[in-house]
Amino acid sequence: MSEIQTENVVIIGSGPAGYTAALYTSRADLQPLVIEGFLWGGLLQQTTDVENFPGYPDGVMGPEMMQQLRDQAERFGTRFITDEATRVELSKDGGLHRVFVGDREIRARAVVLSMGADHRKLGVPGEVELASRGVSYCATCDAAFFREKQTAIVGGGDSAMEEAIFLSKFASKVTVIHRRPEFRASQIMLDRARATENIELLTPTTWSPSIRATAAGARSPPRGCATPRRGKRAISRSTVCSSPSATCPTRPWSKARSPPTTTAT
Ligand SMILES: Cc1cc2nc3c(=O)[nH]c(=O)nc-3n(C[C@H](O)[C@H](O)[C@H](O)COP(=O)(O)OP(=O)(O)OC[C@H]3O[C@@H](n4cnc5c(N)ncnc54)[C@H](O)[C@@H]3O)c2cc1C
Repeated sequence: MSEIQTENVVIIGSGPAGYTAALYTSRADLQPLVIEGFLWGGLLQQTTDVENFPGYPDGVMGPEMMQQLRDQAERFGTRFITDEATRVELSKDGGLHRVFVGDREIRARAVVLSMGADHRKLGVPGEVELASRGVSYCATCDAAFFREKQTAIVGGGDSAMEEAIFLSKFASKVTVIHRRPEFRASQIMLDRARATENIELLTPTTWSPSIRATAAGARSPPRGCATPRRGKRAISRSTVCSSPSATCPTRPWSKARSPPTTTAT
């Protein structure tokens, strides 16, 4: 039987959080091991322009930025396993933690869990095909792409109101679509949204014919990932906007993954 490898630090996940942890722990001479998954680089691999990261005055393409973060961590001795962690057993008594990659077991003094999060999807037509091309999950990241456009946001909590208020500074109109008559958002956030001239609250709504029409049209995205026509709407769970950039993400995110089972022993 092969000897079980023991590490100082195992980092699971390869988004900005994972590679940042790798950078700091490698510079502390802890020789971290990153289990980065097959589709390394995290959510920013799905996007084109990242404009809010300090140090890039002209913006940067998401995949390019993730390559740079990876290279920077590697420069200080970070090692990578381009595979999925399938199971984690965290020690409760200060002993070694156990991380599994399939049948391979790795023991570690510390484990950093940085597997990111997944957006809750609506399951509507066009949602997957138009991700990053009109369907967005982050107004702070993407609102500037929707200047003078009609947009819609799905949700009724504080996040939806926050996204709507931010987006309203760029978009000509923001329609907040919510399935119940009452909102979960805090009163102050709701008041701010109501007081914003170009925000419309549409409730109770689960599906509207205009969105259905657009989403159906969205099944065939324009050739070469071109920007959808002005004035059209697309749809997503959080922020729904009409058209971000005209380029395709270079590494489309395709595979849905499940997190490793984590247990404390
Ligand atoms: C389309 C899009 C555009 C965005 N644009 C911007 C922007 O312009 N500016 C901005 O600030 N933010 C933006 N964001 C948000 C940003 O991508 C996230 O905030 C950020 O990626 C979160 O980083 P993270 O490291 O926590 O997780 P993630 O980036 O989600 O990375 C998690 C990583 O963990 C890996 N992983 C998961 N499970 C396992 C496992 N079992 N084993 C091994 N690896 C595993 C995944 O493969 C992934 O690499 C955007 C998001 C999207 C989807």
